[in-house]
Amino acid sequence: MVTQSSGTVTLVKVVVQVKLIPETDQAAALSATLRTVNESACWVSGVAFERGVPREYELRKHTYAELKARGLGAQAAQHVIKKVRDAYTALKANIRAGNLGRPGSKRRIKAESKPVLFRPDSAQPYDDRCLSWQYDAGTVSIWTTAGRLKTVRFACSPDALTTLREHRQGESDLIERDGTFYLIATCDIPETPLNENPAGFVGVDLGIVNIATTSTGYRAAGRALNRHRGRQLDLRKKLQAKGTKSAKRLLKKRSRKEQRHTANQNHVISKTIVTAAERTGSGIALEDLTGIRSRVRLRKEQRQQLHSWSFRQLASFVEYKARRAGVPLVYVDPAYTSRQCSECHHVERKNRATQSVFACRACGVMMHADHNASRNIARKGEAVWIAGRESRVPATP
Ligand SMILES: [Zn+2]
Repeated sequence: MVTQSSGTVTLVKVVVQVKLIPETDQAAALSATLRTVNESACWVSGVAFERGVPREYELRKHTYAELKARGLGAQAAQHVIKKVRDAYTALKANIRAGNLGRPGSKRRIKAESKPVLFRPDSAQPYDDRCLSWQYDAGTVSIWTTAGRLKTVRFACSPDALTTLREHRQGESDLIERDGTFYLIATCDIPETPLNENPAGFVGVDLGIVNIATTSTGYRAAGRALNRHRGRQLDLRKKLQAKGTKSAKRLLKKRSRKEQRHTANQNHVISKTIVTAAERTGSGIALEDLTGIRSRVRLRKEQRQQLHSWSFRQLASFVEYKARRAGVPLVYVDPAYTSRQCSECHHVERKNRATQSVFACRACGVMMHADHNASRNIARKGEAVWIAGRESRVPATP
């Protein structure tokens, strides 16, 4: 997420991914277009490499006519040249930052000794002249090497559509992943000013059985996701055992699909949490996830299901959605959140009777263990916020 100030309004850059639903012939045209522009990019890259990576206008002088002859329109040709130039700029920056090792290292020599390559399905940027959006009709009109496709249908959530309609700006990228086409659009969204006086905090407990439980009673069960992961895991084992090239390819495809599935789920959960906090004028308290893997004691099969990255992703989605909505967000120390009674604050390991039941040994209160934890997190969140505010506001003399 990139933020920038424009006058007094802070803009947050967000990307919206839209899935295209092309007819068969449209899909063929899109596919051929991506192949053509990326083959052309490889060719331009070769020219840039041979001639010592000249500047954009110089590269344009050597390649533009040939690109037009290959069937690229003026804009597409320009975008291909810019894409190649950007790739070399990025490579240079990576080398300078030491991301490819020291001078003379194997990786660095490999990267420097040949032109940058573009995969046949690499992203291609489209500006407003090559791509226009018809939001009401749910279609785009897009340039291809087979001519302009006037009505390619697209699908996205109602929220994403609103964001696109109100804030889409600049270029969008066309990509293909596992046979599906997507447009990645950039939107500049004005950030809502931070709510400085939250009316309490929503505590969020993250877990495996329940992915997220909030102190306000929302619970995102992990059953479906865990079942899904279990199935994927079985399949992965079978494919790994096979070890063939096609099995490996399928494996990669599967894991990308799984990541998309998790990301979708995390979007839905984070959205629900942030919307609830926004509606009630509350802040959000999350556990500090550093060390979640070592902290949580797990049975072996659960360990397979726990992808710490998916929790970090959920937390980062909550973070940026909260920021957009002006909802205060604090991280709290997770110590004792599952052992402490959220009613009387008594701490005892035995308070947690089973995985799901919390029964306080001191006051006798009983509730769902995750709900108890989320209430503790909410309370801690409020304390963190107040402490932070006291340190922010100078004492009156
Ligand atoms: Zn108690």
